[in-house]
Amino acid sequence: MPGLRYDLHIHSALSPCAEDDMTPATIAGFNKLAGAEVIAVCDHNSALNLPAVAACCREYGLGLIPGLEVNTQEEIHLLCYFPSVEAALEMGEQVYRTLPDIRSDRYVWGRQLIMNESDEITGEVEKLLTTACGLGIYEAAGLCRELGGLPVPAHIDKSSYSAISVLGVLPEDLGFSIVEAARPHKLLPMQTAGLLPEGLEVISSSDAHSVENLRSEFPLLPEGCLLEKYIL
Ligand SMILES: [Zn+2]
Ligand SMILES: [Zn+2]
Repeated sequence: MPGLRYDLHIHSALSPCAEDDMTPATIAGFNKLAGAEVIAVCDHNSALNLPAVAACCREYGLGLIPGLEVNTQEEIHLLCYFPSVEAALEMGEQVYRTLPDIRSDRYVWGRQLIMNESDEITGEVEKLLTTACGLGIYEAAGLCRELGGLPVPAHIDKSSYSAISVLGVLPEDLGFSIVEAARPHKLLPMQTAGLLPEGLEVISSSDAHSVENLRSEFPLLPEGCLLEKYIL
């Protein structure tokens, strides 16, 4: 069986830096029409739009992996994937509690919209979601695993908010088996330089914050990828 066409890193209108039209039904509908088979909406430090996203994916017959993108204390972006929406919500709640009490200002950062499956706004998150949370990378990865999830360092080839840019290397004792790269071919020199543990699986997603940046073509999830068992 060939792998599934995926995009496992998309931001909804809950992320202040994402456009307000990145609604649950829009994300699910556009991806279905474009030919995706499984998606993940991973908002910054919160999973509050996942109940609506899950309902829309069910409606469109699209696979969903519940997730969020934690910004760790060190400013490393860590994708956390879960086997259920409830587990992702629990992680989101625990992360939110550790966020500094900086009120989000919609005119400065953008709105942080919570929506239902009909794309109606049901609330807004108060604390700014893009700040670093109180959990370090080891704690965040540990909590993710405790809740049954799989932590995946995000865009490790980027020059900011990535494990490599902050730590210099990806420590083996963090126990990652999958990494996300914006441009997977850029990992080769990193591997040669010994900055990455051996045998990592590499995935690459859009990190779309707007409808224009949603994918029209999709890579295939590697066969037997650990993430397969997280698909709802
Ligand atoms: Zn990121
Ligand atoms: Zn992101």
